[in-house]
Amino acid sequence: ARTRPFNFSAGPAMLPEEVLREAAAEMLDWHGSGMGVMEMSHRGREFIEIYETAERNLRALLAVPPEFRILFMQGGGLGENAIVPMNLSRGGLVDVIVTGAWSKKSLGEAGRYANACAAASNEASGFTTLPAPASWELREGASYLHLCSNETIHGVEFQTLPDLAALGSSAPLVVDCSSHVLSRSIDWSRVGLAFAGAQKNIGPAGLTIVFVREDLLGHALPICPTAFDYTVVAEHGSMFNTPPTYGIYIAGLVFQHVLRQGGVAEMERRAIERSQLLYRYLDDNGGFYRNPVAADARSRMNVPFFLADASHNEAFLAGAREAGLLQLKGHKSVGGMRASLYNAMPLAGVQTLVEYMKDFVRRHG
Ligand code: PMP
Repeated sequence: ARTRPFNFSAGPAMLPEEVLREAAAEMLDWHGSGMGVMEMSHRGREFIEIYETAERNLRALLAVPPEFRILFMQGGGLGENAIVPMNLSRGGLVDVIVTGAWSKKSLGEAGRYANACAAASNEASGFTTLPAPASWELREGASYLHLCSNETIHGVEFQTLPDLAALGSSAPLVVDCSSHVLSRSIDWSRVGLAFAGAQKNIGPAGLTIVFVREDLLGHALPICPTAFDYTVVAEHGSMFNTPPTYGIYIAGLVFQHVLRQGGVAEMERRAIERSQLLYRYLDDNGGFYRNPVAADARSRMNVPFFLADASHNEAFLAGAREAGLLQLKGHKSVGGMRASLYNAMPLAGVQTLVEYMKDFVRRHG
């Protein structure tokens, strides 16, 4: 029997209940060490074991090749918007594909450190489409191309990463995969660097994971804080300064949980099943609800939707809370509703949501 409501938060977001119970059981004493994880030195043998296991499992889950370093950092996605250009731009050209609020922010922040320019933008469509790679205006000699592979606010997701070499560019691809990491595999042959804030599919806020190809290291701008210089962080195994130890521990429990569930392929299968159930209803409900995103750009993780009559919004949210469906309010910049369907969301959560939505139409339609 379920004891907790279904939580549709975009992040920080719901975690697997099994992980929360494990963490609770180990809160006062991790594996007979006499210490809770928050109380351990990051350099002690207990925490080093937690850290190395987490990194190994993450590498296995995403099949990360050996030439990529995995860094456990702080600063979040917005921190990376500055840390990436400070490390990779060399003060030169940065191209950005704008597909929603997060990549637009990345463009603005990169502009503080480099000559940043939108190589394509879907803003004219209200952030509801994916600009075709063939139309991207890639500048010769760019230090990198940035894109956000899943736009958390607008619900736009790349189904495949672009092959920049095939587009005639030799720039490495930088991917903000914060809000769909671990829900699908990553084609590392097309990636130079990927980063993800942990607070959606991985664990608590405060941990940011960076995957960086070794040949991109070594070019930080002089103004880059030492603690955010990827080369320094990599050389110290993410222990140049104190890493977010508790976040790494919870992330490690999540990685083990995902492995037990069948890995990323199983997460992807479930993500497709969950999101299709909701999109099918959104496209076929007589016009009461609507998702505006083009079919080929729709996110499996974040599904914004709108009631045709926005005056029902408050009643919709209040009824949802009563039905055990939490945090469905859309981002303030777009309004309406948003259902975030991360790895920890069971299919039953979406089934319950769709039943609630149908019932709401019967009462208010
Ligand atoms: N990028 C994406 C895709 C996000 O979803 C978010 C947060 N929702 C951010 C960046 C910003 O992350 P943070 O708040 O951790 O800086």
